[in-house]
Amino acid sequence: MGKLHVKAAVIGAGLAGLVAARELCREGHQVVVFERANDVGGTWLYDPRIESDPLGLDPGRNIVHASMHRSLRVNLPRQLMGFSDYQFLKKGCGDPRSFPGHEEVLRFLRGFMEDSGLIELIRFGHEVVRVERAVEGRRDQWAVEWRTCGGEEVAGVEVFEAVVVCNGKYTQPKIAEFPGRSTWQGEQLHSHNYRVPEPYKDKIVLIIGRGVSASEIAQDILPFAREVHQASRETNLEVVKLRKVPGVFQHPMIAWADEDGRLVFQDESSMYAYVIIHCTGYRYHFPFLKTEGLVNVDDNRVGPLYKHVFPPSLAPWLSFIGIPYLTFPAQLSELQSRWVAKVLSGELVLPSDEEMMSSVQEHYQHIEELGWPKRFTHRLEQGKFEYEKWLVDQLGLPSMEQRSEKMVLILSELFKFRQFADEHWRDNLDVEKLMQENQAKSLN
Ligand code: FAD
Repeated sequence: MGKLHVKAAVIGAGLAGLVAARELCREGHQVVVFERANDVGGTWLYDPRIESDPLGLDPGRNIVHASMHRSLRVNLPRQLMGFSDYQFLKKGCGDPRSFPGHEEVLRFLRGFMEDSGLIELIRFGHEVVRVERAVEGRRDQWAVEWRTCGGEEVAGVEVFEAVVVCNGKYTQPKIAEFPGRSTWQGEQLHSHNYRVPEPYKDKIVLIIGRGVSASEIAQDILPFAREVHQASRETNLEVVKLRKVPGVFQHPMIAWADEDGRLVFQDESSMYAYVIIHCTGYRYHFPFLKTEGLVNVDDNRVGPLYKHVFPPSLAPWLSFIGIPYLTFPAQLSELQSRWVAKVLSGELVLPSDEEMMSSVQEHYQHIEELGWPKRFTHRLEQGKFEYEKWLVDQLGLPSMEQRSEKMVLILSELFKFRQFADEHWRDNLDVEKLMQENQAKSLN
C-alpha cells in the first residue's frame, strides 16, 4: 500500500511547530500552520510588553506569549540546540558566542523557516480558538476554528484530518500561594512578565523559586536593587547552596504575609519587600481543545498521552509536540515530529488503543514508584536519552548511543561549571574544546 497523505493543521510556529511542519511536508502531507503572532519564534520572539495582569491569573487578560527577559542568554550551548541536519551554527550571524543572546535563536529559527521553504505554509496573525471533532465518532475529521488577531477581525472554520498541537508550554503562569498573598499590598508578578531590572532600582526584591529563571532574574536585578532575596520550598540545603547566587539572601518558603506587609518565612524570620517575583513555573494550557474529556490537564499531567505524544483514543489524528521538559527541545521536537509524520502516512504503525493505554498506565506507575507527584509526568531529566533512543529506534535511525554519551559528558561538565562558577560561566566555558576532547575520547 502506498503512503497516505493527509491534510494536517499545525498549531503554533515556534521551534516545535516549524520542525513539525517540515517533517509533515517531507512525508508528503498537506500542511497549514496557524500562528497567532506575526512572526515565527514563539518563546524566542522577545516582546517588551507585559500582560494586564502581571501574575497571569485573570483569564481575560491580554496574552503575551514569550516569557523572555531582555538580557536572556541561552542556557544550553548552541551546539546542542540545533536540528540533526540544520545546526545552530555561528556562520554569518550576529552573535557567535556558544551561549548567545535570545535574538540569535530567533535568527536561527527564521533561517530554518526560510531554508526549509516553510513560509508559504504559515498563516500569521491567525489564532486557533477551537479544535473539535467535526463528525461524531470519527477521529480523522477535525474542525479548526480560527480568527485573525489585530486589525479587522476575520474568522473561519476548516476541516483537517490531523491536528498537531505545538502551542508551547511557557505562557500560562503558576504562582506560589501562601496565606495573605492575595491581599498583600506590594507589587507581585510572575517571571513570565519580567523584562528589565530598571524598575527595581534601589528596591528590596523577593524572588520565589529555585529554578533557572529564579537565578537568572536574581542575577539580572542584583546590580540595580537595594537587596535581592530568594525564598523557596526546597529543603535540601545542598541544593540551596549549589544554586545560590552570590549576594542574594536565602530564605525558606514564605509562611504568611502580615496585614502590615511583613513577609514571614517558615523559619519565623521576616522581611519587608517592595516586590515579589514568582519564578514558579508554568501550566500546560490548551484553551482551544474540546475533546469531551478524552484529553485533560490534571495537576499538570496532560493525559492520557502515549509516549507524551498521542492520546490513544484519538491517535494518530491528534498529537502533541514538545510536551516533555528537562530535555533538548530541538532534538526532541524533531524526533517526535518525524514519528507523527510517519505514523500519519502509515509507514509506522501504532499499537492498539488498549496497548497504548497500558503503556500510559505503566508510565504513571513508574512516576509513583519514583515518589514523584503527578505534575512531574512529563519531566524527562535522566530519562531523556532513553526516551530519545526509543523514538530513534521507532524511526529506524542509526543508533544514537555515541551521541548520547557525548551529550552526557558535555552536560555533566556544563552543570559542574554552572554550579561552581559566577555569572560569567557562559563566557568562561570553552564548549568547542570540551567537544573536541570528547571527540578524541570516543575515537580512542
Ligand atoms: P513556543 O516557542 O512557545 O511556540 C509556540 C507557538 O504557538 C508560539 O509562536 C505561539 O504564538 C503559538 N500559539 C500558541 N497558541 C496559539 C493559538 N491558539 N493559535 C495559534 N498559535 C498559537 N530551550 C533551549 O533549547 N535552550 C535554552 O537556552 C532555553 N531557554 C529558555 C528560557 C526560557 C525563559 C524559556 C521560557 C524557555 C527556554 N527554552 C530553552 C525552551 C524553549 O521554550 C524551547 O527551546 C522552544 O522554543 C519551545 O518551542 P515550542 O514551539 O514548543 O513553543
